[in-house]
Amino acid sequence: MTNQDWRVRSLKAVWHPCTQMKLHARDIEPQPLIPVARAEGVWLHDFDGRRYLDGISSWWVNLFGHNHPAIREALVQQLQSLDHVMLAGFTHAPVVELSERLSALTGLGHAFYGSDGASATEIALKMSAHHWRNAGRPGKNCFVGIAGGYHGETVGALAVTDIALFREAYAPLVRLGATAPSPDARGALPGEDAAAVAERAAAALSEWLAAHHAQTAAVIAEPLVQCATGMAMHHPVYLQRLRELCDRYQVHLVLDEIAVGFGRTGSLFAHQQAGILPDFLCLSKGLTGGTLPLSAVLTTDAVYAAFYDDEVARGFLHSHSYTGNPLACRAALATLDLIASTDIVNANQTTGARLWAQFEGVTQHPRVSHARRQGMIFAWDVASSLPDFSRRYARHALAQGLVLRPIGHTLYAMPPYVISEDEGRWLADGALKALNATLAEETAGLPAQAGVLDGV
Ligand SMILES: *Cc1c(COP(=O)(O)O)cnc(C)c1O
Repeated sequence: MTNQDWRVRSLKAVWHPCTQMKLHARDIEPQPLIPVARAEGVWLHDFDGRRYLDGISSWWVNLFGHNHPAIREALVQQLQSLDHVMLAGFTHAPVVELSERLSALTGLGHAFYGSDGASATEIALKMSAHHWRNAGRPGKNCFVGIAGGYHGETVGALAVTDIALFREAYAPLVRLGATAPSPDARGALPGEDAAAVAERAAAALSEWLAAHHAQTAAVIAEPLVQCATGMAMHHPVYLQRLRELCDRYQVHLVLDEIAVGFGRTGSLFAHQQAGILPDFLCLSKGLTGGTLPLSAVLTTDAVYAAFYDDEVARGFLHSHSYTGNPLACRAALATLDLIASTDIVNANQTTGARLWAQFEGVTQHPRVSHARRQGMIFAWDVASSLPDFSRRYARHALAQGLVLRPIGHTLYAMPPYVISEDEGRWLADGALKALNATLAEETAGLPAQAGVLDGV
C-alpha cells in the first residue's frame, strides 16, 4: 500500500478532526494528508519511504519520542495481567500507584480520571460548582476564563474556551463564561514589561470578581503559556495574583496544565514557577508520554471533603466508561519513571537553550517579531499578508521533512524532549527554509485561497 492508497481510503471513510474535509479534496494545491506507517523517536515515517520530524509532538502529547521502548515494555507487561476493569466498585495497581505518584508530585490528591483533556475540564468545572452547592452556596456556578484561553471543545469546555473559530457555530448550545483580559506579554503598553502587563490583567480580574464573586465558582487558566491561541506567554506573577484573588473572593482556581505540564515549560508543572497551588489541576496530553488517551483532575482535601457524605447525591456522580484504564495508567507510570530517570526538567534546560540558539535564523528573520521561548516551547510571530499563511507554511514544512503547523501567523515548535543536536538542526534549518518559501509565495502574488482553516 502506498501513501496514495491510504489517502484515498481515509478520505472516503474517516472524518478528520479540526479539518474542513474539502481542503483535502481540492485539485489545486490540496492540503496533503500524510498516512503514517510507523513512528520512532522524533520521526514519523510514511508509506512512500519519506520521514518527517514531529516538530509539534503530535499536538503536544509526545514527550520522550514515539515508540519509546520503556513505555512499550510497560504496556506489554500490563497486557499480560489486566486490560481493563471498571473503576466504580473496583480498583487496580496502576491506578493506585499513579494516583499516589501524582499526589506526591503536585501536593494535590484525590485523582479523578477521564479520557481526554476536554473531559478533565468538564470534571473540574462540574466539581467546582457542585462543591459550592454542597457548601450551601448553589449560586456560585459561573466561570471566568482568560481571553484567548483554550480548555477543549466539548460543549461545557467551550464555555471557557475563548477561540471564536471553535465556538461560533455552537454559540447557542454554550452557557458562556465571563472572559478576563489576557496577561499576554505581547500586550505591553509603552514602558510596560511582562510583569506590568500581568499586574494590569490581574487588576481587571480583581475588579470583576469584586462585583461577581457571589455567582462565581472558579477561574480557569492555562499557566505561563496559552498554547492554542498562539503560544501567548505571561509572567508568573499573574499566577500569584490569581491565587490571591481566588483566596480573597472564595473562588476556586482551576489550572489547566493539559498542554504545559510534565516539564514542557522548564519546571515539572508550570504553576510551580509561581510557587502556588491551584484548587484543581487538569492533566492530560503528556501524561502518558503520548501513547494512550488519559486525563486526570487533582484537587484539595477541602474540595474532596465537601463531597464526602452519607447522602449519595452529594457525591461526585460523574464517570466515563474507561475511567482509570489500567493500560493508560501504566503508560503514565512509565512516563513518570522516564521523567525521573532522565532528570528531564534539568536536561530540558540544556536542550531548550541549544534549540533556541539553533533557531537563531528564524529569530533574526526580518519578518519575525516577538520571538519567545518558555522551556521547550518556541514561538515567533510572522508578518505576512497571506490569510492562509498557516496552511501554506505547513505544506512547505512537510516538503522540508517537518511537521510544523503555525497557529494563525504564529510559527511555533514544541518538539519531543529527546530531540538530538542534529535533529534540532534539521528542525531549525527546515523551519527557516519553509518560512522563506512561504513568504516567496506572497511576493509572487498568488491568489489567497478561500475557506481557510486558520489556527490548526
Ligand atoms: C489540548 C488541550 C485541551 C483539550 O484536550 P483534548 O484531549 O484535546 O480534549 C484542554 N486544554 C488545553 C490547555 C489543551 O492544550
